[in-house]
Amino acid sequence: MAQLQRIAIAPSQLQQGQISLTKEQQHYLARVLRLREGDRFIAMDGKGKWWLTQLAGEQGQVLEPLVVETELPVSITLMVALPKGNGFDEVVRCCTELGVTTIAPVLSDRTLLQPSPQKLERWRRIAAEAAEQSERAFVPTILEPVAFSSSLSFENSHKYICEARGNFPHLKDCLPHQISKVEGITNDQGQMTNDQGLIIAIGPEGGWTQQEIDSAIAAGFQGVSLGRRILRAVTAPVVALSLVSAACEV
Ligand code: SAM
Repeated sequence: MAQLQRIAIAPSQLQQGQISLTKEQQHYLARVLRLREGDRFIAMDGKGKWWLTQLAGEQGQVLEPLVVETELPVSITLMVALPKGNGFDEVVRCCTELGVTTIAPVLSDRTLLQPSPQKLERWRRIAAEAAEQSERAFVPTILEPVAFSSSLSFENSHKYICEARGNFPHLKDCLPHQISKVEGITNDQGQMTNDQGLIIAIGPEGGWTQQEIDSAIAAGFQGVSLGRRILRAVTAPVVALSLVSAACEV
């Protein structure tokens, strides 16, 4: 099935086994991918469901549901202080490929970027494209940017704040022993919530202030290192996610 092209659809497009394709999707399938009447493709709703589908005019005819097992066994929320320029685009793309569940853009004391409302749409589009590309069953949720102080109230028992120069233990030594049993919980909308997953916070180019680290620790975050080198704000989330997936994937 790997060679079939995939397109993301909104759940509302599927009615009684028929997917009503948008004009853009019709254009993409017929003109860009050059599919013809009767050709097959995969439709994915970004919420865990995939269907083998056949092109039928302006519709997709669902042939059968497919089983997808590409998700990590643990849900991960990344709180990332917004880096300068377009750095966050790269964070969203790479972390989606690596299996992140939720990304919370955070405005910290040293954040330089004030994102425009269009940015959020752009990040969500990048997440959907990266999820298609990496054959994810779920498209990660990209939350509205929040102030660092509000993000501290995320409820969870496995919360980590990455600090480049603190004398903190390595993240790999702080992850729960039975990490794949630290499952996320699915809410009414079918989204994973992080009541029991992991939360990992990464700072901006200028790093966290001491006050931010202190208040995170007071809110139950554990300070962690990602190794002895100073990583760029865009590299650090990728390293953190790679460590988690190495610990929990078989
Ligand atoms: N300007 C800061 C300094 O010189 O200490 C470095 C900030 S770093 C470019 C951006 C963020 O990536 C940090 O706030 C931290 O969250 C994370 N980070 C980078 N390297 C790290 C490391 N070795 N261990 C833990 N976190 C790291």
